[in-house]
Amino acid sequence: MQKITVLGATGRMGQAIIHAIAQIDGAALYSALEREGVDAIGKDARALTGLEPSGVLITSNVDEALDGSDAIIDFTAPQVSIDYAKKAHALGLVHVIGTTGWTAEEDAEIASLSGNGRLVKAGNMSLGVNLLMGLVKKAAAALPEDFDIEVLEMHHRMKVDAPSGTALMLGEAAAEGREIDLASNAVRARDGITGAREPGTIGFATLRGGTVIGDHSVVFAGSNERIELSHHAQDRSIFANGAVHASLWAQDKAPGLYSMADVLGL
Ligand code: NAP
Repeated sequence: MQKITVLGATGRMGQAIIHAIAQIDGAALYSALEREGVDAIGKDARALTGLEPSGVLITSNVDEALDGSDAIIDFTAPQVSIDYAKKAHALGLVHVIGTTGWTAEEDAEIASLSGNGRLVKAGNMSLGVNLLMGLVKKAAAALPEDFDIEVLEMHHRMKVDAPSGTALMLGEAAAEGREIDLASNAVRARDGITGAREPGTIGFATLRGGTVIGDHSVVFAGSNERIELSHHAQDRSIFANGAVHASLWAQDKAPGLYSMADVLGL
């Protein structure tokens, strides 16, 4: 049994992960962490999500929560995830990081950390989205450059970062297929008189509203034809299940930073 600590245990994803752990063989909820001062501290972590109580109480005592734990699953915020990645490296733990909204500097910082931790970091942990990334990379490599690439995403009204981590990963997959650098070819937003579309760029468009879990499309727009590759997430459980599978997969791997493509052997 892998003993898992859930970080941000009262968050939307934290709750979905507690459910996924209850359903996946080989995974056990070991501890549930929240920030100091949160009302839920001291309450049963499983009972809060509508499951049978397990005796695991939500705590803000990090040392106690991690003592004896095998893995941390973390969908919180980049600076929080960096702090926990350092702890995972120091303690030799698995650390699954689903947090999004990273700056280039934060991404570089986590990649530069070393130690005995097995980190799996992905802006989207669903199997379907990770397959979509493979298809986008292939399409971008196969189609000539006069097919304009646009990445479109829609998420619920509470999402604080844009474009979504998944949209950026899809843009990265397209850039890899085209063998270009995303940062210098991305158009992250358009407003007003923008002029004609710059050839070879990868555009992003963001929609926010309602309770949409996550819709992503990559459009390859040629002169008289258009290809669209899309994924629609219907339930948060797809990310939570992927995160728990990633955690179990990483248990016997060598220390390092892995992606979901590694987990799925893509
Ligand atoms: P959320 O509901 O706001 O949950 C985040 C939780 O983390 C909150 O409970 C928050 O507590 C807690 N937290 C923050 N700092 C903490 C700390 N230092 N120690 C312990 N807990 C802490 O957000 P969400 O919808 O679950 O999303 C969380 C992240 O996951 C976002 O970046 C989102 O984009 C990402 N996400 C990724 C995937 C994927 O597949 N990779 C899928 C869905 C979402 P407070 O409320 O007190 O701040």
